[in-house]
Parts: sequence; C-alpha cells; structure tokens
Amino acid sequence: MRQQLVKVVKGKGIKNEKVLEAMSKIPRHLFMDSSFLDHAYQDKAFPIGADQTISQPYTVAFQTELLEIKDGDKVLEIGTGSGYQTAVLCLMGAKVFSIERQQELFKKTSKFLPKLGYRAKKLIFGDGYKGMPDEAPFNSIIVTAGAPFIPTPLLSQLAIGGRLVIPVGDDVQTMTLIIRKGTKQFEKHEFGEFRFVPLLEDKN
Ligand code: SAH
Repeated sequence: MRQQLVKVVKGKGIKNEKVLEAMSKIPRHLFMDSSFLDHAYQDKAFPIGADQTISQPYTVAFQTELLEIKDGDKVLEIGTGSGYQTAVLCLMGAKVFSIERQQELFKKTSKFLPKLGYRAKKLIFGDGYKGMPDEAPFNSIIVTAGAPFIPTPLLSQLAIGGRLVIPVGDDVQTMTLIIRKGTKQFEKHEFGEFRFVPLLEDKN
C-alpha cells in the first residue's frame, strides 16, 4: 500500500528520490487515529485530533522537495502535528527541530516518534511564529500550517543560502519558497494553491 501511495505521489510530479524513499518506508497508518486505517494510504489529509490534520502525502512531498535537504542539514519544522513530516525529514538525514502549539498533540507525538525510531534533535511545545532562536541558523524551515503572513523571526533564523517553505494566505494558501541570498536579500518564488489548517498565534 505504501508503494502504491508513492506511485501516486510520483505520478503527480514529485521527483526527489530521497523524499519518495522516505515515504515508502514510513507506516503512515500509525500516525493516524485507528478509525481511519482504511484511509492511511490514500493521498488525502485526515483528522489527527485537537482539530488538526495530518497533511496530504502529496503536500508533504511537495514541501519537502522544495527544501532540497542535504545530509546533516538543520531543519526547523513549525507544526509537528502527527509527526509524519518530522519522520520524513529524519529519514532523509536532517537534524530536525520541531515546534507544536497544541499541548495534547505535542505530548502524544513526542512520546510516539522515538518509539518508532524517529529521533528529532528537539521537539518543543511553543509558538512557531517565534521560531527557535536558540538553535538558529537553520538550513531550511518548513511551516506546515497556513500562515496569514511570513513571520519575521523565521526569515532571520535562516542561514545564508537557506530555504523557507511556507503556505501563505487565509482561506487558501499559496505555497511560497523564500531563499536567503544574503543578510538582507531574500528571493521569493510562488507555487500552486494549497489548503492548510491555520497557523495560530499563541495567546497564552
Ligand atoms: N506536519 C504535521 C501537520 C499538522 S497540521 C503532520 O504531518 O501531521 C499543522 C499543525 O500546526 C497542527 O498540529 C497545529 O496545532 C500546528 N500549529 C498551528 N499553529 C502553530 C503555531 N503557531 N506554532 C506551532 N504549531 C502550530
């Protein structure tokens, strides 16, 4: 079933072999509520509790491909959620730092990922709008929730040459890639439209 899913994702245009290989190894059904077992290997997003969703496999692949991960890269993920995207990044040889603002999901996923053998460098409960300044700079940053705007801290935590992949917009988001060319120079590329749950500002 996993190979079939990879075939579908490949058919939609994903070429990066490392991304496809990682997805062919990860048991996606374990990242979802068991009542959705039948759906785990369809190319669809699904609920994971706390009003959140596990992203559609094609979306995970699309965002990950844009990051151009190299072995040992430091990668910051905003929105750990189920940990599926985190697992993909770990398997690709990245040092993964991830932030989740829902306590329930944070607790569940930080116990679950090591059980399956996926070892992120750091999983924290916090507000992704602020990034993780203590661990910056990052070779790449991936935001897995829809952002109304690009948070400035994320730009400043990118290494020179680093890549930020972020869906920007309210109801519908435009997949946006920012490449940091110099201290103050950023290059912007826009891709297709996607739909994510919103990146929420922390009110605590
Ligand atoms: N990468 C996840 C996607 C989960 S959906 C996966 O593959 O399962 C997006 C996640 O972003 C949700 O878990 C949501 O709680 C989280 N989120 C929303 N706003 C956030 C913020 N400001 N900081 C960190 N996480 C946030």
